[in-house]
Amino acid sequence: MSTNRSEQIPPFIVMEVLERAKELERAGRQIIHMEIGEPDFDTPAKIKQAAIDAIGRNETHYTHSLGILPLREAIARHYKDKYGVTVNPDQVIVTQGTSPALLLVLCALLEKGDEILLTDPCYACYPNFVNYIDGKPVMIPISAQDGFILHAEAAKRKITSKTRAILINSPSNPTGTLLPADNMRRLTELGPYIISDEIYHGLVYGEKEHSILEYTDRAFVLNGFSKTYAMTGWRLGYIIAPKEFVRPIQKSQQNLFICAGSVSQWAGVSALTEHHPEIPLMVNTYEKRRRFMLDALQELGFGVAVEPKGAFYILADARFLGENSYDLAFDMLEKSGVAVDPGIDFGANAEGFLRFSYANSLENIKTGIERLKKYIEKR
Ligand code: PMP
Repeated sequence: MSTNRSEQIPPFIVMEVLERAKELERAGRQIIHMEIGEPDFDTPAKIKQAAIDAIGRNETHYTHSLGILPLREAIARHYKDKYGVTVNPDQVIVTQGTSPALLLVLCALLEKGDEILLTDPCYACYPNFVNYIDGKPVMIPISAQDGFILHAEAAKRKITSKTRAILINSPSNPTGTLLPADNMRRLTELGPYIISDEIYHGLVYGEKEHSILEYTDRAFVLNGFSKTYAMTGWRLGYIIAPKEFVRPIQKSQQNLFICAGSVSQWAGVSALTEHHPEIPLMVNTYEKRRRFMLDALQELGFGVAVEPKGAFYILADARFLGENSYDLAFDMLEKSGVAVDPGIDFGANAEGFLRFSYANSLENIKTGIERLKKYIEKR
């Protein structure tokens, strides 16, 4: 019998949908994937070349536990150039993706029973991470009618003597919402640390994203290369932490992970320091798909009260098809061969919603929409 901790962690339903979709594919069905939060693009050419060059130079050993200095310097410079904020490379800890970055930060912040404020809905894994290390996720409901925006007043009402941090994610998975600058600033005035998951920075359409470091130093930035640079498989992310947290996080990293992958880190240096013409093309392509999908979903009857402005997701109200999003998503997959995620994965407040990812070709999205049209007509 395994521990309560590993027995009780809920599955990441996105992965369960994906795994069922793959099973159907193995059985000969052709599935349209709108469930995966993964770029369908390949990693830009110069980034791949930088990794090949690193292997050629035998950069294949453990690195410093905090990451290679050129990457930590490039991350600091990136934050200076993009947001005008001063980050010392000493504050940067390179990790094997944003997921380990979140684990390390939560481990540095939470004693047993300490609270983290999260929005409902939020990225499905957040509350699971917090529970896993015996913290307490405290959910702040956010509503579709309001564009899934987190307001400082709503956060303030949930603060207790146990609240250690407020975890935000803008642009957001699953909502695509971009948190307005003023809301970010006001959250920083509440007292708890802000953990800002900036993994979807770079994937915004027509507006500008803000880093939490523009408003406060009492914050942890989580970021990674998976989404904007189409580097999911490279497993590369980072933390920017207040100085006093760097040493404890470093010691955790040494014990738990040793360091991030050496070759991936050199690829990361290229990602941040070289020009990659593929990236603006990807962003333009996502934007076209977003437009198409927004219109098409609404024509089919799905509700999108406020247009999402970033990431590659649309969280649409599907209650005209049923209240139970889990059953609906799996029924849709079996009957129409279109894979989408049930809102319930992202919180009770997203029950009745479905998350559609447009990290797929416009051609496939069009086929998916056609299939959904038939599915809805038959119900
Ligand atoms: N945060 C958010 C909001 C995400 O959507 C994801 C990936 N789905 C992650 C973190 C983890 O990304 P990675 O570990 O690939 O950097």
